[in-house]
Amino acid sequence: MKKYLLLLALTLVGCGRKSEMDSFVDDLMGRMTLDEKIGQLNLPVTGNIVTGQARSSNVAERIRGGEVGGLLNLTGAANVAEVQSIAVEESRLGIPLLVGLDVIHGYRTTFPIPLCMACSWDMDAIEESASIAAREAGADGIAWTFSPMVDIARDPRWGRVSEGAGEDPFLGSRVAEALVRGYQGTSGMIEGNDHILACVKHFGLYGAAEAGLDYNTTDMSRIRMYNDYLPPYKAAVDAGAGSVMSSFNDIDGVPATGNKWLLSTLLRDEWGFPGFVVTDYTAISEMITHGVGDLQETSRRALDAGADMDMVSEGFLGTIRQSIEEGKLSVETVDKACRRILEAKYRLGLFQDPYKYCDTTKAGQLLYCPEHRAAARRIASESFVLLKNEGSLLPLSRKGTIAVIGPLANTAANMPGNWSVGGHIDEATTLLDGIREVAGPGVRVLYAKGSNLVHDARVEEWATVFGRSLGRDGRSASEMLAEAVRTARQADVVVAALGESSEMTGESSSRSDISIPDAQKELLQALLATGKPVVLVLFNGRPLTLGWEKENVPAILDVWFGGSEAAYAIGDVLFGDVNPSGKLTMTFPKSVGQIPIYYARKNTGRALPEGHWFEKFRTNYLDVDNDPLYPFGYGLSYTTFEYGEPVLSSSTMDWDGSIEATVRVTNTGQREGKEVVQMYIRDVVGSVTRPVRELKGFRKVCLAPGESTDVTFRITRDLLAFYAPLSETHLHDPALSSAPVASASGTRASDSACASAGVSYGPFACRPVADPGSSSGLTLAAEPGTFEVFIGPDSRCRASVSFELRR
Ligand code: BGC
Repeated sequence: MKKYLLLLALTLVGCGRKSEMDSFVDDLMGRMTLDEKIGQLNLPVTGNIVTGQARSSNVAERIRGGEVGGLLNLTGAANVAEVQSIAVEESRLGIPLLVGLDVIHGYRTTFPIPLCMACSWDMDAIEESASIAAREAGADGIAWTFSPMVDIARDPRWGRVSEGAGEDPFLGSRVAEALVRGYQGTSGMIEGNDHILACVKHFGLYGAAEAGLDYNTTDMSRIRMYNDYLPPYKAAVDAGAGSVMSSFNDIDGVPATGNKWLLSTLLRDEWGFPGFVVTDYTAISEMITHGVGDLQETSRRALDAGADMDMVSEGFLGTIRQSIEEGKLSVETVDKACRRILEAKYRLGLFQDPYKYCDTTKAGQLLYCPEHRAAARRIASESFVLLKNEGSLLPLSRKGTIAVIGPLANTAANMPGNWSVGGHIDEATTLLDGIREVAGPGVRVLYAKGSNLVHDARVEEWATVFGRSLGRDGRSASEMLAEAVRTARQADVVVAALGESSEMTGESSSRSDISIPDAQKELLQALLATGKPVVLVLFNGRPLTLGWEKENVPAILDVWFGGSEAAYAIGDVLFGDVNPSGKLTMTFPKSVGQIPIYYARKNTGRALPEGHWFEKFRTNYLDVDNDPLYPFGYGLSYTTFEYGEPVLSSSTMDWDGSIEATVRVTNTGQREGKEVVQMYIRDVVGSVTRPVRELKGFRKVCLAPGESTDVTFRITRDLLAFYAPLSETHLHDPALSSAPVASASGTRASDSACASAGVSYGPFACRPVADPGSSSGLTLAAEPGTFEVFIGPDSRCRASVSFELRR
């Protein structure tokens, strides 16, 4: 207690001001031994220790000995308080612990998985979800979340596409900023316990794993890296994220966790990141398997590269002293890392109040409270994507008989989605119950399981881990089918709940075949054969190949995994209480062979004319056309929208000027609806090849039936900038050298097209210290020339206007 008071007194002198933080940390480090400093770099996993157990555990002993800087996976305010008290009261210097957890899409109240939530294109909603998650986690002992995950992903075989915002760097950057703001807040310090520290992951390029195989190698050109993959990490760092997680994959042959160019040159020297880097789980010991050294060598390389905190490997704790003694590493390197971790604790206010996240009265009031649940239901219902609605089959009317059929219809465990570690699986509602409740007493609801998830029981076991068993049905496939068909025949309409189990995506859940599993497809075919109208309610954590379903099923609502309130939210959309407004943020391929498929592709020298399939010596396949099944940005509504011709305020743009692009959007249907208006730009001629179009603005508008609105996007030069080697046309543009990558348009919140640029939030605001592309030989600049502007409802919209940028 004495020590704590001493620290408290020191801290209170001037909390929040950098010079005072510096002198506080200087003083503290001046009293630390080398081993205590190394201890701060150690992040072991505890698993949940219940109150009372903590004191006698091995972890407690190590905390007392100053060997632990933070803990992973411990929850509950009382549990955390107990462990924190060991650090504060019983270790020599009383340095508080940093307690972290994967709070990915909500805590106890879970929101849709990130890929689903991105489909809302609603940055206010995404920020709100993160701020509720922070409030709940902060009430339950957690100070630090391992989110946002901002890896750009263009290969849906990779299961972790579910954890990010999809394929696009511009949209991904806006989502990254919104999540950081939501977790950390926007004030100068992380004050109170309503906000927690964010961690941007997985740095970097983890989403580009070869063949969509998790943990696989990545290799790409600098130009692609800077233009397509790095922007969301940079945007999160610019938004003030306090920590970054290094990834498992290698880059240029060096594992990211030991990659000095990535963690020091790029992240710190060019981007000015002031926070700390934590490795991914056992990433340092995995470098041994990568084949770059033993634990001492990989630990040395990681620390030297710029990793500050070792998650679970215990390589820093076990080998750094030896490396220093052998002259392989300097004490200064340890000092730097230790300082960054202490600074994060200081900025979080943990020295001031180590128990700030341990208010045991708060969790009971906040966790899964009606207000948070209502927000989760609303946000989920705005994130689902209506893929098809032939003959306006949806919305359903509240009468007659509905048969809810499928292996995903009557399972609560599957609803929240993967990475919902703070959620209580048993609290979620099954789709069947949700439909019953939202439909009300006027509707008769029948149920049959119809099939297992997959025919192979072993695969089902792998795909339903972490307590998310669907309960394998022991009957034969034909018995289950027959029951389902009998049930469907009694109904007016069939709701088929099919797709993936939640653990078929997420970490270590790559698939080579991304279609609906055969067992369920056979069920769907049998249901359609009854002649009853069928609505496919599709559960998935990745784009699926749905060619047959698109042809044959009249209505498809993609609900992904919608969080703890998903069942009600799905009901809200099925019965038309909410008009769907989600739009895809990842392209759906027609076949796995088209992967990677993304809208912002390059034209090539042998482009296939639009609308054609095969022409010899063109860029095309013999057996499938080049079009996606569903393009990026696509999604239907129960109403219809009509777009006018876009109009530019001028056909020329001066080098330092701006122009406006305006389009009139009209709700031509019978219901109120929300539409995501999207603006894409093509740089027609560049010093390097440029994508056929790139998203550069979006706005979600709500229109009453018959109502029109003019949506205006302001286009400035920074929006047109891209990374390329310096050349005659790509002249260095000093005004841009400190601009945040791809957030230069400043899109924030719901006003996604015209807000201000480069705002930094919170205590970890970065200060770019070099040209952000300098180490790559690339420069961020715009080039004069012709630009085409496309505004419409998805990424296929046609260009109708163009302008010249003049220098
Ligand atoms: C994942 C990270 C996660 C970490 C801690 C790793 O396996 O890659 O995303 O934050 O575990 O749970």
